[in-house]
Amino acid sequence: MQVESMGVCDVIIIGAGPAGTSAAAVLAERGRRVIILEKDSFPRYRVGESLIPYCWFPLNRIGMIDKLKASAFTKKYSVQFVGKSGRVSQPFYFFQHTEHDCSTTWQVVRSEFDRMLLDNAVEKDAEVMMPAAAKRLLYEDDRVVGVQGVLEDGKPFELRAPMTIDASGRDLFAVKAHDWRVDDPQLRKVAVWTYYQGARRDTGLDEGATTVAYIPGNGWFWYIPLPEDKVSVGVVAERDYLYREGKGDPDAIFDREVANQPWVREHLTGGTKLGPCRVTGDYSYRSKYSATDGLVLTGDALAFLDPVFSSGVFLALQSGVLAGEAVEAALAAGDVSAERFNDYSEHLCSGIEAMRKLVYAFYDEAFRFSDLFKKYPDLRPDLTDCLIGNLEKDFDPLFSAIAEFAQVPSALPHGRPRVTSRTPAGGG
Ligand SMILES: Cc1cc2nc3c(=O)[nH]c(=O)nc-3n(C[C@H](O)[C@H](O)[C@H](O)COP(=O)(O)OP(=O)(O)OC[C@H]3O[C@@H](n4cnc5c(N)ncnc54)[C@H](O)[C@@H]3O)c2cc1C
Repeated sequence: MQVESMGVCDVIIIGAGPAGTSAAAVLAERGRRVIILEKDSFPRYRVGESLIPYCWFPLNRIGMIDKLKASAFTKKYSVQFVGKSGRVSQPFYFFQHTEHDCSTTWQVVRSEFDRMLLDNAVEKDAEVMMPAAAKRLLYEDDRVVGVQGVLEDGKPFELRAPMTIDASGRDLFAVKAHDWRVDDPQLRKVAVWTYYQGARRDTGLDEGATTVAYIPGNGWFWYIPLPEDKVSVGVVAERDYLYREGKGDPDAIFDREVANQPWVREHLTGGTKLGPCRVTGDYSYRSKYSATDGLVLTGDALAFLDPVFSSGVFLALQSGVLAGEAVEAALAAGDVSAERFNDYSEHLCSGIEAMRKLVYAFYDEAFRFSDLFKKYPDLRPDLTDCLIGNLEKDFDPLFSAIAEFAQVPSALPHGRPRVTSRTPAGGG
């Protein structure tokens, strides 16, 4: 079939999730011609509804805060934890830690949130091809120079640009093409989730709180209040634990775990399940490389961490903005070689490592935050900073202390640019 040429732009972005649209907003604002390829038609479903406070900063950078304030998304002021017995911790209110505007965040419906982010990028003159799926990267001398894709009617097309940003989420477009996926072996979990209408919500300030409720078997439930009296509720644990009775269908697994967690059971009583459970598994990974000449990876297309601390959308927005800025600098310098993305990658990987260490501690059966704070009360603000996404800090004192109680993993060595000897690579 004839491949139609769609011409040349400055930057191709694969994927219109939070990572792709925040990168697009930054670049379009700088006057770059940006084309986003999105394989689905919006609105499209996505899990990942709970934002953390530091989402505020990338959202503010791309001009989204007033739009979110005007939205009907549930306001989130706190997180609370529920023990296996059903005992509820004091809610942790973000405004007790910081007086900044970011201490109010949101529980979002992703189909609407992602649409708002896409509209925001389009308002800044980003162009969108949707549905249009990227199928393969185009190379010249080992440098990515564009994308071949297909339109809804199956017609192939070719688009060229000095830079491509892979923001394809857990589809892992570039990672799969190059076999770059490296799993995080100790975070092999399965998530089973659904939505309820009319389930119990707390009142007042706590109405929008995220609840993390522990279950036996080293797992947990999320309970996220959404607009229109809905809640997102899911269970995460080891595959062997969830599937201990054999194959099992996801709804039976979900119902069994609900029956065993008193707080979740009581909150769901009286609510109506809105559909069958969804399942995903083995989702913690990081790409071997973050960039190659002419290509940079962002959001879940680069790395994904267990969702226990709701870090995914934050990391997607943050990496999208940072990638946008790094791509702008590369284009301005006329050099799109992989090295240009060293600082971007170091910055992101060090933030992801802090969250990752905390995730490991969370899953360590021997670890209790209360034990840590009994011995080191001064470290409470550091922990809070990590949880809300303030990842610029030096967390060495925190993790040295945690290492006395739990296994703290060493940093993963990968996730940096794939540097070749040929430099610089022309930026058009
Ligand atoms: C069980 C679970 C619970 C979670 N809970 C939370 C939470 O509470 N809070 C939180 O912050 N995060 C959560 N997350 C993580 C969150 O969902 C992701 O981190 C976030 O969506 C990443 O954004 P992204 O832009 O990188 O990717 P996505 O949002 O996945 O967007 C990628 C886009 O790329 C498109 N695409 C893919 N391939 C192609 C292609 N070849 N061509 C064109 N387009 C393509 C897709 O259609 C999609 O629209 C959770 C994740 C899981 C699995």
